Amino acid sequence: MYEFSHSWPFEWVMDDLYVEECPFCGERSVLLSLKKENIRLAQEGFKTHAVMPCCHEKLVIVNMDDDYIWSDQPLRSL
Ligand SMILES: [Zn+2]
Repeated sequence: MYEFSHSWPFEWVMDDLYVEECPFCGERSVLLSLKKENIRLAQEGFKTHAVMPCCHEKLVIVNMDDDYIWSDQPLRSL
């Protein structure tokens, strides 16, 4: 399992996934463009990715729980 620095909090708004802040550019309230199929894969621990609509950075997602997206790269510096 990855360290906490690889996690990023998200929230559901209806059927959409939002992050309060983009880990790359700091944009607030960003909608993650992930298909339901990709969300299911992430929840099952398969690697997928989302392209941030704000800065077009690629967010690699290796796992997802109820509160956090987990990436293969550190998303925050602790
Ligand atoms: Zn961004």
